[in-house]
Amino acid sequence: MSDCIFCKIVSGEIPSDIVYESDSVVAFNDLNPQAPFHILIVPKKHIPTLNDMTEEDRELIGGILLTASHLAKENGFSEVGYRTLFNCNRGAGQTVFHVHLHLLGGRPFTWPPG
Ligand code: AMP
Ligand code: ZN
Repeated sequence: MSDCIFCKIVSGEIPSDIVYESDSVVAFNDLNPQAPFHILIVPKKHIPTLNDMTEEDRELIGGILLTASHLAKENGFSEVGYRTLFNCNRGAGQTVFHVHLHLLGGRPFTWPPG
């Protein structure tokens, strides 16, 4: 989608700190990190929200989650703990309408979140 900021990151049209890339996903550092590690994992395919994922995307969503655990291990916070989060729609705080998994690590997290 031409006006989507994460599509532009995927295509390289706008710069980002890409930390991981596969055939189907890209992971990059969040511009406004909420933890020492705050990475966004996005599908290369433009999908606006989690609600728009279908049976066809089953493998893709699995790949996004496996990327999160891979990056948590690689960055050394898989055992101490980390948080993964999809915000779905404005009421949950979604501001960029291209599905992304937040991966946060490197500090303690409370539950429920504030
Ligand atoms: P959400 O509120 O779940 O839609 O999250 C959007 C996230 O994208 C926020 O944490 C922003 O800090 C982050 N973000 C927005 N623009 C960029 C960008 N150009 N590069 C990296 N992260 C971004
Ligand atoms: Zn997009």
